[in-house]
Amino acid sequence: MAVYGDQSSTYRCKNCQNPVAFRSELLSKNYLAKSGQAFLFSHARNIVVGPKQDKSLITGVYTLANIFCIKCGEELGWKYIQAYEAKGKFKEGKFIIERAKIAKE
Ligand SMILES: [Zn+2]
Repeated sequence: MAVYGDQSSTYRCKNCQNPVAFRSELLSKNYLAKSGQAFLFSHARNIVVGPKQDKSLITGVYTLANIFCIKCGEELGWKYIQAYEAKGKFKEGKFIIERAKIAKE
């Protein structure tokens, strides 16, 4: 039986090793960002949330805010602030972090 929710695995900013998310908070690996694959997390820490902006994505229209590493300022992905369509509501308050920007410990 597989053990789920490994708290010991941490995703860190590739630039400065700042811990930004835990493996146990990873919800999905099936997202796409500018740089390619991106992960959906339920929480992110040690980040700065930028100004809100409305964006039209493949999956619908959202209010998003870009997120940045609090330590080095690298743009890591975005936070879903609000979804305009019902099917996107589950993403509200969650975080997309680009695979290329983080390293797993
Ligand atoms: Zn950083």
